Amino acid sequence: MAFQPPPQVILLPQTQQLKALTTIIRDKETQRADFIFYSDRIIRILVEEGLNHLPVVEKTVITPTGKEFHGIDFQGRICGVSIMRAGESMEQGLRDVCRSVRIGKILIQRDEETAMPKLYYAKFPPDIATRYCLLLDPMLATGGSAIKAIETLIDYGVAEERILFLNLISCPEGIRAVVEKFPAMKIVTAEIDAGLDEKLYINPGLGDFGCRYFGTDK
Ligand code: URA
Repeated sequence: MAFQPPPQVILLPQTQQLKALTTIIRDKETQRADFIFYSDRIIRILVEEGLNHLPVVEKTVITPTGKEFHGIDFQGRICGVSIMRAGESMEQGLRDVCRSVRIGKILIQRDEETAMPKLYYAKFPPDIATRYCLLLDPMLATGGSAIKAIETLIDYGVAEERILFLNLISCPEGIRAVVEKFPAMKIVTAEIDAGLDEKLYINPGLGDFGCRYFGTDK
């Protein structure tokens, strides 16, 4: 039976446009410049969708015709947090939409002794606990790094329900792991793949996102 994502998962509308973009970045023949360009386009859509899930308040403005327009305004401040290294590829997409947004970073790697994800570095805006947090990592595979990153944000005082995790490609294993541990947060993803392969890569996926984006795959 096909995987039914839980309600915490916001899957981008599966438009032809998005399918064409993800087809390009999944293709192993795609060269780096195109990989970056088309990934950036998807990241932009993800960020715009993520912002849709932030709270708003009613706001009325006067237009140049002298008439009232009853609109809305964002409520609350945000920050980005990228999971190094691949998540750094998503920072510019966030900046393009949210001028001068504060961006924290977090480095998590596998501990050679325990084989568990270990936190090596975290640097956040000092008032992160008062902000909505857009957590950035392009691939949600096992969920190990994401879970460690979310635990770290919660340790720094961020409320779970104020975290939005943005990724380009996810899979059922990663979604289940994250949602089971943090049922109050939301995941915004462009596509959900079949699962993980024996090397824990997403299948069919796109290979190593960080290497393809930053050109370290050769
Ligand atoms: N990270 C990647 O870059 N690709 C995968 O398939 C899984 C994790």
